[in-house]
Amino acid sequence: MGNTVRDLLNRELERFEREHPRSRELSRQAEASLLAGVPMPWMIRWAGGFPVFAADAEGARFRDVDGREYIDFCLGDTGAMTGHSPDATVRAVSKQAARGITLMLPSEDALWVGQELARRFGVPRWQFALTATDANRFAIRLARELTGRPKILVFNWCYHGTVDETFATLEDGTVGSREGNVGPPVPLAETTRVVEWNDVDGLERELRHGDVACVLTEPALTNIGIVLPEPGFHDALRELTRETGTVLIVDETHTLCAGPGGYTAAHGLEPDLLTVGKAIAGGIPAAAYGFSQDVAERLEALLPRDERADVGGIGGTVAANVLSLAAMRATLAEVLTDDAFAHMIALGERFEEGVANAIEQHGLAWHVTRLGCRVEYLFSSERPRNGSEAAAAGDPELDRLIHLYALNRGILLTPFHNMALMSPATTEEDVDAHTAVFDEAARELSSLLATAS
Ligand code: PMP
Repeated sequence: MGNTVRDLLNRELERFEREHPRSRELSRQAEASLLAGVPMPWMIRWAGGFPVFAADAEGARFRDVDGREYIDFCLGDTGAMTGHSPDATVRAVSKQAARGITLMLPSEDALWVGQELARRFGVPRWQFALTATDANRFAIRLARELTGRPKILVFNWCYHGTVDETFATLEDGTVGSREGNVGPPVPLAETTRVVEWNDVDGLERELRHGDVACVLTEPALTNIGIVLPEPGFHDALRELTRETGTVLIVDETHTLCAGPGGYTAAHGLEPDLLTVGKAIAGGIPAAAYGFSQDVAERLEALLPRDERADVGGIGGTVAANVLSLAAMRATLAEVLTDDAFAHMIALGERFEEGVANAIEQHGLAWHVTRLGCRVEYLFSSERPRNGSEAAAAGDPELDRLIHLYALNRGILLTPFHNMALMSPATTEEDVDAHTAVFDEAARELSSLLATAS
């Protein structure tokens, strides 16, 4: 099978190279001024031999420098879940940019956004940062301050941004550094306990050590494929964290796809802290972290409110700038609305159905999973219960082929998964265009697999 998939991959790589001469040329030039030829390391990880250089984007589409147009289901890996450059956000940003960008002073928009996030997530008090990574880093620091404990607990194969403590994996019961982790400051076992997702016994065992400041988790894993919680898992997580005095931080950065108040509102979770970033300002850098009333009161009693407030390791000079806040306000008020989510989730269902039909029709041992307006397919027939099972089901070569196959036919999927996200600007025709391409790929692959066996 490996060879036949590779043949197909080579055919698609040749086509990609032939059809993207300008991107290839820019990519070659970039080697002189950019480290590894890219502005950010992740941009190496696209399926072609070089990245597509973007020209412009609008709604659910973008064009590249070779003049080709794409339907975008990657949407900046969620940063543009609003669709690219939504009108309301662009208007608010243009207006605000002409009236001040960053002042290190609060604006009225901060209050409005705090109230709106409280309404959506049921978490009453808020602070702002520029990235979800930073929101998570600050949340972890605050949890350590509150509890006086050194460690954090994460689930195996999680991803929460470039937060040192989270690059831990569990192998044969031992905590180690995730493969590819660049420059870990200390051995990961010193900072982190790791448990498999859905493993209540493991969670209880690790929390009973009494040295865990916080559990940091997504409400469903989304960064190793979508792995949903089993019934009762969230209840057990909440109960055990309360019982052991551990702070529960829920990271809604991706699971905002579940609805206007994320998975937390949709399923009545009760986190102590909640973090969210990426899409909440329509792609303008912005993130937020919220506190339960109890945690807010305890922190207010604990944290310095005097001349030491700027050296505590929380916040940043351009965090909560007035431009980000204006963008968040417009995006929450006018773009990521209840109606928009209803539209996006219905499209997610349509996408899921199209993929499931093609998988069945072509007899492939794959499956598709959906969380709200986020849909992913995985190359196994069994649904994984945890991160290890999901990781084991990965197939990098097939992954690359599917992405390139789609890209060559005008469709962009998220590069690190077989993931698609629906935006308010995405249409049924966009979804059906993906279904047709996926069906074509599935047909070619099923006949290849049949030939190989
Ligand atoms: N949390 C989750 C769940 C994420 O998936 C990511 C990024 N993929 C982050 C946090 C970090 O976001 P950023 O890279 O924008 O800081």
